[in-house]
Amino acid sequence: MQDWSLTLDKLLDHAARWHGGREIVTRSVEGPVVRSTYADIHRRAKQVSHALLEAGVKPGDRVATMGWNSDRHLEAWYGAIGIGAVLHTLNPRLFPEQIVYIANHAGDEVLLADPACAPLLAEILPQCPTIRQVVFLSEAAPPTPFPALAYEAWIAGRPADTPWGGFDENAAAGLCYTSGTTGNPKGVLYGHRSNYLHAMMTLQPDALNLSARDTVLLIVPMYHANAWGVMYSAPMVGAKLVLPGQKLDGASLHELIEAEGVTYSAGVPTIWQMLLAHLKATKGKLTTLQRVTVGGSACPESIFRTLRDDYGVDVIHGWGMTETSPLATVSVPSPAIAGRSFEDQLPYKLKQGRLLCNLDLKLVDDAGRRLPHDGRTFGRLMIKGPTIASGYFRAEGGEVLDDEGFFDTGDVSTIDAEGYMQITDRAKDVIKSGGEWISSIDVENIAVAHPKAALCAVIGVVHPKWDERPVLLVQLKPGEQAGKQEFLDFLDGKIARWWMPDDVLFVDEIPLGATGKIDKKRLREGLTGYELPFDPNLRR
Ligand code: AMP
Repeated sequence: MQDWSLTLDKLLDHAARWHGGREIVTRSVEGPVVRSTYADIHRRAKQVSHALLEAGVKPGDRVATMGWNSDRHLEAWYGAIGIGAVLHTLNPRLFPEQIVYIANHAGDEVLLADPACAPLLAEILPQCPTIRQVVFLSEAAPPTPFPALAYEAWIAGRPADTPWGGFDENAAAGLCYTSGTTGNPKGVLYGHRSNYLHAMMTLQPDALNLSARDTVLLIVPMYHANAWGVMYSAPMVGAKLVLPGQKLDGASLHELIEAEGVTYSAGVPTIWQMLLAHLKATKGKLTTLQRVTVGGSACPESIFRTLRDDYGVDVIHGWGMTETSPLATVSVPSPAIAGRSFEDQLPYKLKQGRLLCNLDLKLVDDAGRRLPHDGRTFGRLMIKGPTIASGYFRAEGGEVLDDEGFFDTGDVSTIDAEGYMQITDRAKDVIKSGGEWISSIDVENIAVAHPKAALCAVIGVVHPKWDERPVLLVQLKPGEQAGKQEFLDFLDGKIARWWMPDDVLFVDEIPLGATGKIDKKRLREGLTGYELPFDPNLRR
């Protein structure tokens, strides 16, 4: 067979040549919705490559971006990886000191940023000595106390024939830091080949099943977990791409979905909750949307039901992490499940799903012994494959693989006889009560279905008899009032008695982290000094 190295620049070459007229639609930082095509993106990405080479960027150097999902961000992405530079997506929602740490650790040299990030950059740049050029992803650069260029002037008039590729398929392409809920954030370095394989894996019918006929609204930020691979999978099939910019509120997303005929979208549960709240309030419809992938945290049952029953949209639950490129399991029906009614399929759809090809999974106990796939036994989830990290950037965190080459996900889960994996907790969030494990996620998902609940979180609190007991924290919907017993009654019969929270606390706001997930670390800090109501006679 011919030699054809799997480098990612080929994906945009392919899209420009064979799907050149397919549209890329962006809600621009300047405000209006703007249109371009794969051919335009390809031409302008080549101009970015020329500008980067002129700025002295060499293969392996880190080019950082800090911005929302946009056409210019996509051009910068391919402009960097096409010449063998490493595209490092910085998350503007992190705390400034975290961004400083990450940019210095990565050794970023050029930074392309949305103009809205200018005040943040003024704060952090004096502490980031490796960044020697800043380009704003806009027509005009905002006034700044540091030297900066405007993207349009930076690329204008440049040749669009800078050669791409020609490097090893195992060369690094992307760098993404994990959310870092414990310790410093750690970098995950993706390779051209690993991301190419990941894109092919995610496109399978039993995964995201994207095609040239799809219009994809990418809500997952490009700076989070490799944008779920969509920067590669969409050009690979020539899907129309809709990039929502900074406006991720329900009204703005709904407007784009309807105006652009979106058929498929991907995002974390909180995004879908916001969209559903907007649709309900405005009696809005979803006339073109067929299916959505929900992942990043467990998708509550209410989202599955409402999207299906009220809007005819199928939810595909997916699981993964920055270290797994990220998609690894997808909850699509197995042959044994497919013929059942929706109600009978739902318990499986709610699980995180079945493994994509090329990967292997196992469950182990604390001593590393394999556990059965019986759908009941909880264990540490370990994963292996060419799209799974073998370590962190600059060997941070040391050796991370076990003797069999499996990566410890830090998730606790079960796997059933049909091969469906179900996350029961993060290893550090699992509640250990009387030697048994309680899944905080299970209780949260049931509690959040309460009609008055906006968000729910369950955390373990030290208990004199049982080691730890669950406490339910509830953020009510605006204008709602509720008592503790109402929530306990709601859970009664839906969870095991000994999983019943010992207390229900109403809070103004459940804190979300930089990627929209519930920040349990901050919740725990907020409960410092809190003591459980303790009844020594209560039997569980
Ligand atoms: P991140 O690397 O920031 O994307 O975080 C990855 C972690 O998010 C995983 O290890 C899981 O704990 C969690 N996660 C991702 N998808 C899901 C899901 N569908 N259900 C439950 N947890 C999830």
